[in-house]
Amino acid sequence: MKILICGGAGYIGSHMVKLLVARGNEVITFDNLSTGHREAVRWGELVVGDLLDRKALAALFKVHEFAAVMHFSAKSLVGESVTDPEKYYENNVIGTANLLKEMRNAGVNHFIFSSTAATFGMPVQARIDESHPQVPINPYGRSKLMVEMMLQDYFRAYGMRSVSLRYFNAAGADPEGQLGESHDPETHLIPNVLRSILGLTAGLKVFGGDYPTADGTCVRDYIHINDLCMAHLRALDYLQFHDGCHGFNLGNGNGFSVLEVIQAAREVTGCAIPYSMEPRRPGDPPVLVADSTLARRELGWDPRYASLQDILTSAWGWHQHPLF
Ligand code: UDP
Repeated sequence: MKILICGGAGYIGSHMVKLLVARGNEVITFDNLSTGHREAVRWGELVVGDLLDRKALAALFKVHEFAAVMHFSAKSLVGESVTDPEKYYENNVIGTANLLKEMRNAGVNHFIFSSTAATFGMPVQARIDESHPQVPINPYGRSKLMVEMMLQDYFRAYGMRSVSLRYFNAAGADPEGQLGESHDPETHLIPNVLRSILGLTAGLKVFGGDYPTADGTCVRDYIHINDLCMAHLRALDYLQFHDGCHGFNLGNGNGFSVLEVIQAAREVTGCAIPYSMEPRRPGDPPVLVADSTLARRELGWDPRYASLQDILTSAWGWHQHPLF
C-alpha cells in the first residue's frame, strides 16, 4: 500500500514516515522544504514540490498510485497567522483544495488530515471532546476548520473518506534519536526549555504568569509524537472499514502548566533552568486539555508515553545530538 505524505520532511510528518515504513508501507514524501528538512526524509522518496503548484501535484498523482494521503503540510504559527493571514489561507486552504482535487482526479479516496485544538478556540469545558463548539480565534485555527468543513462536503458529495486528527501539543522525539523537532525560529515551549539549557536561545521566557490557573501559567496537554503517529496508523486502518468524515481529538488528557514543564525538565536533565516572566503571548487560551475517549474507543488508540518525563527524555536526547 503506497501512501503519500504531504509534509513528510517536517516534525510530525517525518516521524510518520518512519512508522509507516517500519510497518511495511511504501511512502512518498511531497514537501516544499519551506520549514521541513531534506535530512529528515530518511525513508522513501522525497519529491520537492508545493501544494500551490497544481502541475507538480498532477504529475505526482500520474506517476504514483496512492492508496491514501496523509496531509501534514501547513503553516502553523498562531502569531504569524494573525499578522499574515494570506499565507495561512493560501497554504492551508487553497493548497489543501488543490490536493483534494488531484486526489479526486486520481480516484484516491482516503485522506488523513492534521487538524488542531486551535479549531476549538476558547474552551468552554475543562476537557475538550469532539462535541465542543469549534469557534477558532485566529486565522490558523480558521484555516484548519475550513478544511474540516470542506471534508464534510467532500464526503457528502463525492464520498471521500477522511479522518481529521486534532492535535493538542505535539512534543518529544524519536526514541532512537534519528528524528526530532527542529524549527527555525523555534517558538514551542519544550524545545525552547531544552535549548535554553544548551545555550542555544538567549533566555527562556515564560509568557504570562497571571492566568486563572493554579500557578498562573498556561496549561497544555502534551502528547508524544509517536503516540500521535500511532493514531494516524489507526485512522488509516479505520478508513478501510468505515465510510464517512470523522474527527478525533488527540491528547493525553493531562494538563501541565508552563512551570510544571520547566520543573519536569530540571528533573530529567539535572540542570538549572532560569527563566524570566514575560507578558502574555496574544492568542493563548489559559487551558487546553483534550478528552480523547472517542479516539481510544473508535480507533483503538492507546497512547504509550503517558508521562511528561518520558516525553522530555526523548526530546532531551534529540536536542543534545540533533542530526539536522
Ligand atoms: N510558552 C512559553 N515560552 C516559550 C514558548 C511557549 O511560556 O518560549 C508557553 C506558551 O505561551 C503556551 C505554552 O507555553 O502557554 C505552550 O506553547 P507552545 O508554543 O509550545 O504551544 P501552543 O500551545 O501555542 O500550541
